Amino acid sequence: MMQFTYESYAVMLRNLRDKGYQFRNYGNWQEADRTVILRHDVDNSLQKAVHLSTVEKTICPEGAHATYFVLVSTNFYNIHSKSSRECIHKIMQNGGNIGLHFDETQYAISDEQEMKQYVHDEAVILSDLIGQKVDVVSMHRPSEKFLCSNISFSGIINSYEETYFQKMKYVSDSRRHWRENVEEIIESAIYPRLHILTHPFWYREGQEWNLHDTLQEAILTASLDYYDNLNENFRDLEGEIARSEIERRKV
Ligand SMILES: [Zn+2]
Repeated sequence: MMQFTYESYAVMLRNLRDKGYQFRNYGNWQEADRTVILRHDVDNSLQKAVHLSTVEKTICPEGAHATYFVLVSTNFYNIHSKSSRECIHKIMQNGGNIGLHFDETQYAISDEQEMKQYVHDEAVILSDLIGQKVDVVSMHRPSEKFLCSNISFSGIINSYEETYFQKMKYVSDSRRHWRENVEEIIESAIYPRLHILTHPFWYREGQEWNLHDTLQEAILTASLDYYDNLNENFRDLEGEIARSEIERRKV
């Protein structure tokens, strides 16, 4: 079974290429006989997304054309901060596309029209930030209501449109669990169209960790990031509370 490591992800990309899959995005997946769309939902960490895009750049210097779906409304990162903008820029430099990841729970949405408006507004914000038009959206934990609606947005591709599920073989690592064996699916090469969703959050350098340790690492790293941000805004933080006090909680 595929491991949640960068090495394993690199092996997957190589296997895709060896089996003749061409890397395409949501707009041009029909342009070759055998294509794959790589989708990444950036739910928690832009840094981790950068890392995955670096793996793609290394394995596919010609471009993996993966789409990184970025949240505009989230408590986990602020797309307008300098470090976030640098991450997004790096992803694009590595050949990635930027899509909008939309979290409908951030708003009180009563009907389809309102939903379209919020998606449009967030797409405009993200487009302004990256300096090019964001033309694809994916939903963060979509409601049953949304999934049933097969809603279409003007000027922006909905990655949940039936076509991406009915005309493509869709596999995902949601909740850090591949419901189907993605390596076998690629190896068999029986599907001419693949749509693969991965969450950069789960992948790491070196050995695979179990779910508990992966979550713990993320939570503790976030508290260290908080410390470092505070340190830039608070004189003599170290004199009040030492970084090592936070650090030693890490495994
Ligand atoms: Zn998500």
